[in-house]
Amino acid sequence: MPTKKMTATLSEKKGVILLGDAFNMRHPAIASGMMVLLSDILILRRLLQPLSNLGNAQKISQVIKSFYDIRKPMSATVNTLGNAFSQVLVASTDEAKEAMRQGCYDYLSSGGFRTSGMMALLGGMNPRPISLIYHLCAITLSSIGHLLSPFPSPLRIWHSLRLFGLAMKMLVPHLKAEGVSQMLFPVNAAAYSKSYMAATAL
Ligand SMILES: Cc1cc2nc3c(=O)[nH]c(=O)nc-3n(C[C@H](O)[C@H](O)[C@H](O)COP(=O)(O)OP(=O)(O)OC[C@H]3O[C@@H](n4cnc5c(N)ncnc54)[C@H](O)[C@@H]3O)c2cc1C
Repeated sequence: MPTKKMTATLSEKKGVILLGDAFNMRHPAIASGMMVLLSDILILRRLLQPLSNLGNAQKISQVIKSFYDIRKPMSATVNTLGNAFSQVLVASTDEAKEAMRQGCYDYLSSGGFRTSGMMALLGGMNPRPISLIYHLCAITLSSIGHLLSPFPSPLRIWHSLRLFGLAMKMLVPHLKAEGVSQMLFPVNAAAYSKSYMAATAL
C-alpha cells in the first residue's frame, strides 16, 4: 500500500468539490481516510442544503471555503495523529526514538482516561486539536520520565533532550502546515459540532 499523505488545499476551479483521498490523505498508520470522508460529507451536506441552484459556481465556491474551515478541527486532529504515529511507532536503534515508541505503547495500554482519550481521537469522536496536543505532550513527558528512571545520568538527560527535540520536530511543522489558527479557532469547532450533532440526531 503506498504510504501517501496530502494536505487539503482549496480547489482553484470554480464550482468543483473534491472529497476523499483525492482531497486529503494522511498516513495510513491510523486507517482513517473513510472516517474523515464521511465526516466531510456530513459537513458539506449541511452547507449545500440551503442552496436552491447547484449550478451557481460563485455560491459553491463560498460553500467550499466554509467547508474547508469547518472540517479543519476534525481533519487536522486526525492528520496530525497519523503523522505523529507514523514516526513514533517505528522500531529504532536510536534510544530516544525507542523510548518514545515504548512510551507511546505504554500510554495507549495504560487504561483509563489516557486510553479512552487516545481512542476517542483515533476514532474521530473528539475532534479537538487541543486534546491531541495534550495527549502528545503527556506521551512525550511520560517517555522522558521513563528514560530518566531509575535515576538521571548525563547520557539519559542527553537522550531526554533529544527525545523532546524529536517530539517538537514531529509536531510543530505539521501543526503549522495544517494551519494552527484554523485548527484552534473556536467558531470552526462549534460549527463542526453543529454539523455532526445535527446529523447524528436524525
Ligand atoms: C488497506 C487500507 C485500509 C484502510 N482502512 C481504513 C479504515 O479502517 N478506516 C477508514 O476510515 N479508512 C480506511 N482506509 C482508507 C479508506 O479506504 C479511503 O480513505 C477511502 O476509500 C477513500 O475513498 P475515496 O472514494 O476517496 O477513494 P477510493 O475508495 O480510492 O475510490 C476511488 C475510486 O475511483 C476509481 N478510479 C480511479 N481513477 C479512475 C478513473 N480515471 N476513472 C474512473 N474511476 C477511477 C478507483 O478505481 C476507485 O474505485 C483504508 C485504506 C486502505 C488502502
